[in-house]
Amino acid sequence: MTKRNILLTPGPTPVPPEVLKVMAEPIFHHRTPRYRELFREVSENLKLVFRTQESVYTFTGSGTLAMEASIANFLSAGDKVITLEAGKFGERWTEIAKRYGLNAVVVKVPYGETISPETLEQTLQANPGAKAVYATLCETSTGVLLDIESMARIVAKTQAIFVVDAISGLAADRLEMDGWKVDVVVSGSQKGLMIPPGLAFLAASKKAWALNKTAKLPRYYVDLGQCEKSLKDWDTPFTPALTLVLALRETLKQMKQEGIERIWARTGKLAVYTREQIKNLGLELFSKKPANTLTAVKVPADIDGEKLVSTLRDEKGVTLAGGQGSMKGQVFRVSHMGFIRESDIKIGLSVLKETLEELRKKNTTKVHV
Ligand SMILES: *Cc1c(COP(=O)(O)O)cnc(C)c1O
Repeated sequence: MTKRNILLTPGPTPVPPEVLKVMAEPIFHHRTPRYRELFREVSENLKLVFRTQESVYTFTGSGTLAMEASIANFLSAGDKVITLEAGKFGERWTEIAKRYGLNAVVVKVPYGETISPETLEQTLQANPGAKAVYATLCETSTGVLLDIESMARIVAKTQAIFVVDAISGLAADRLEMDGWKVDVVVSGSQKGLMIPPGLAFLAASKKAWALNKTAKLPRYYVDLGQCEKSLKDWDTPFTPALTLVLALRETLKQMKQEGIERIWARTGKLAVYTREQIKNLGLELFSKKPANTLTAVKVPADIDGEKLVSTLRDEKGVTLAGGQGSMKGQVFRVSHMGFIRESDIKIGLSVLKETLEELRKKNTTKVHV
């Protein structure tokens, strides 16, 4: 029998059972009225989550594909861009930009800290030729939130487009694409959207489309012009992962029913609850500006962080995420996205408490021997 496990990682996140069920439907062909109707509904409902009137394009691939698309579609080799690095995912923006031959001006803060809008404003003033600014709504590696609303206000006054990685933050932390004037939002399927990994999304403003017209970087699979042409017929240029699109129809229906404002509020409440409980356990938050999407927690000095995460996962049936890169063993992360509810967190944290006590007892025994 399959071992039960409570999945509390910031992606992939748990998929509701009724959504898993629709993925067992027989495969059908995608160049059909049936698919077009499905894809029309999904594409329309995605706009409600992105808070935009613009089209939302769906790619088959993980979230990073949409990050790459948001570079390849809007820039030309040698262009200057500003990348905001508050963790591993911000660093990914810089890596992709460099790989495409862009001139990346990097704004970097230590892990656990956020980037201030003032710092971005100064960087833009010092680099008036910058064509784009790349930011992250929720930096999943550290649990930090960036002030996208204030940053968007600053970037909107320049020629640059403002591109936001909302792969984890979408449908968890508030994001108003049109209302805040964010030019490009990218996301993925396996986080707040509550379906398995495999779809990536991108929405672009008119300012971004204007830049697309002069952008010379090579692109084929992620060419937005092609996506736009296909989307006019509620279609995609290439074979869609239609099983995942079926699943997405279900979760978007649920999300529409609940309403995005209520989803943000529910996630925020869960985040507050988790942070309170974490403090009650005598633990410390890693993030100085915590997002609602997830909570990153410092591993106490007397505990082996990797051992903690593996014990919870393999022996206790609770999967948390460990730290990435140099944060390995230093932090663990608990998600509040999507289908995760207070009861899941309650169980997760009580098992965490018990496991910390057990590991400490083992430590003490070791010392006495
Ligand atoms: C998960 C995540 C990604 C990466 O997405 P993949 O689906 O693994 O490609 C990028 N950025 C952020 C902020 C994420 O949380």
